[in-house]
Amino acid sequence: MPQESAFEPLEDVVFIATSDLAARTKGRALPARRFDETTSVGWVPANIGIGPLGHIVDGIPFGASGDLRLRPDPASRVRIPRIGERPAFDLVFGDLVEVDGEPWHSCPRTFLRETVRELREEFGIEARSTFEHEFVDLSAGPDHHPFSLEAFRRAEPLGSTLLALLERMGLEPENWLPEYAKHQYEITLEPTDPLTSADRAILLRDLVRDLFEAHGRRATFAPITEEGGGGSGVHVHFGLYDESGRTLLFDPDRPGRLSELGGRFAAGVIRHAPGLTALFAPLLTSYQRLRPHNWSTARAFLGVQNREALLRICPTNELDGRDPSRQLHFEFRGSDAGANPWLLLGALLRAGMAGLRESLDPAEVVEGDLDLEGRHAGLAPLPERLEDALDAMLADETVTGWFSPELVETFAAIKRDELRLLRSRSLAEQIEVYSRVL
Ligand code: GLU
Ligand code: MG
Repeated sequence: MPQESAFEPLEDVVFIATSDLAARTKGRALPARRFDETTSVGWVPANIGIGPLGHIVDGIPFGASGDLRLRPDPASRVRIPRIGERPAFDLVFGDLVEVDGEPWHSCPRTFLRETVRELREEFGIEARSTFEHEFVDLSAGPDHHPFSLEAFRRAEPLGSTLLALLERMGLEPENWLPEYAKHQYEITLEPTDPLTSADRAILLRDLVRDLFEAHGRRATFAPITEEGGGGSGVHVHFGLYDESGRTLLFDPDRPGRLSELGGRFAAGVIRHAPGLTALFAPLLTSYQRLRPHNWSTARAFLGVQNREALLRICPTNELDGRDPSRQLHFEFRGSDAGANPWLLLGALLRAGMAGLRESLDPAEVVEGDLDLEGRHAGLAPLPERLEDALDAMLADETVTGWFSPELVETFAAIKRDELRLLRSRSLAEQIEVYSRVL
């Protein structure tokens, strides 16, 4: 018989969190009574060099020495209710700073914060965004029928518990559904400001895994969970508005009803897509998902209502006279859960800003399906393997220029370590490894 503890677990605990290049949430906790607006906790620069496989890799520019502070952003504090036997606690995201309070050059959250500031200050643009997540229930039995009520019910009571949890925490769940691929589910949240949306994406993955574990089941956000099976994506939805909330994307007279500014923003994302691929598809198995006829994408193009577009102009709901203008937005479909949400969203917004700065021509809006033999033969393919994506990233000085040299070097070292350890393994083994860590 397990011994009953003489004490109730302390629920007044605050966990101060960051998320690393492998999109793992990390941090330190303290009793809430010790937490106030001046609180920060120590952090180690070399921690950013821990890859998905769970060790600090060789070849990073950080060693055994050096110290940082993880400084909480009080606006991000949330209460996580009791989940199964695991007590309630508060979680607050922090920014990594030097010990004198200066921003740390390689903090992923600061990267997004700075990007949002540039977008506002240089272009007068406010973005609103949300992340759409797919994941797979690894503990489900053999039967599956896509989108079925049966699959929906088999996730119970976890599905409705997840919705209750997200509602209670103020994370604004939108849709919860059984998806197409085997034992796959999807959860979407309402759009919000970029930093909050990325914080929520980070939290959501941990909450889902926590909930499944508490019920003796396992969920994974890995990009694929079986050879030849459908993939799990993380689609990033974002719209652009002026400071009074008016859309900057909608123009009913242009192709796809996308404004010229929207077209130029999209052109930046399309142009830099090959250089961005290692960031949005950072795992060896990401490339099993990024294939034609997988409802993900293998080409860099802007499409209307085409689920193989890298960047899609999303449909609007105009029932009962609803106004499409504010609804019209982009969905970036290339990414998976290997990507850190702060870096991913920051990089997409920076790619769009590059399109505006370079005054690129608006991206071609592809309507309907692709004609790869004819009209669309010239659309840039995306790298097909992680090693090629890493080379493409390192060759795109615009992309690498957004980050500190230390961050780029660390990212490259992590990917090389992963390639060294996993490349020669069978696909089944790669799937197994990533399904365990994601
Ligand atoms: N599962 C597809 C992906 O890998 C997306 C399916 C959809 O939601 O359109 O991204
Ligand atoms: Mg989906």
